[in-house]
Amino acid sequence: MTLVTQFDAATAESVQRAIEVLAGRRVAVLTGAGVSTDSGIPDYRGKGAPVRTPMTAQTFLASEQARRRYWVGSHLGWRAFAAADPNPGHRALARLEGSGIATGVITQNVDGLHVRAGSRRVVELHGTMRRVFCTHCGQVFDRRDLAVRVEVDNPWIAIPENVPLGPDGDVLPESTDGFRIPACTVCEGMLKPDVVFFGEFIPAEKFREAEQLVRTSDALVVAGSSLVVNSGIRLVERARRRRLPVVIVNRGETRADARATVKVDAGTSDVLSALAEALPAAV
Ligand SMILES: [Zn+2]
Repeated sequence: MTLVTQFDAATAESVQRAIEVLAGRRVAVLTGAGVSTDSGIPDYRGKGAPVRTPMTAQTFLASEQARRRYWVGSHLGWRAFAAADPNPGHRALARLEGSGIATGVITQNVDGLHVRAGSRRVVELHGTMRRVFCTHCGQVFDRRDLAVRVEVDNPWIAIPENVPLGPDGDVLPESTDGFRIPACTVCEGMLKPDVVFFGEFIPAEKFREAEQLVRTSDALVVAGSSLVVNSGIRLVERARRRRLPVVIVNRGETRADARATVKVDAGTSDVLSALAEALPAAV
């Protein structure tokens, strides 16, 4: 079989080895920000990424001014996500699941692009921007509905020209003083996006779900993550302990390169597409 010629010789060889290692196996997939860069969503941990100080849940809960700042940035960040489309990497993973090869996707991303690409079993380790919930009564809201309310209450925010966007989709307006923070329509309680904040733990049942996916698979593919986040490393450890092959697809180094069965140093869109094309469907 000849591999797609977009790869240089060394990459083509590692992709070929990945195919040999994964053939006939049921594969759990762990993805990070690198799978979404081709959709125009920046990778905060990639080279040259701006240094940012993410807001902690503590600050968010303690200060109304912090919440105002957070919601303005989060609203504009969400709009950037909503405007992005799944790329060939997301679609390749959905195809791999459809053909019975991938058991599911565990993702560190909150952009919802795996779901939109058609992946059915998706464990969103860090939550999702698609949902917002009330910290008081637990009511869950669709982000699209909430965005409409935010823009009705704060008409200035709907005009992008008036708002200087930061490189990470956050916004740095002169002042967020006039911003009206959305509240729960049921109980007027405080709303919080359904994402794991900086410094917060991944909910235990979420991590168990991810472990379960690795446990019931015969191999692990890590795509587009440098594995800086500990939960990612822990899942690789789980796979290694069970002696499962681990294939890492990432541009640049990761924290688990030394433990990988195969490392492919290339973009995830091309490599995942090649895997979806080459791997035989499971029966
Ligand atoms: Zn409520």
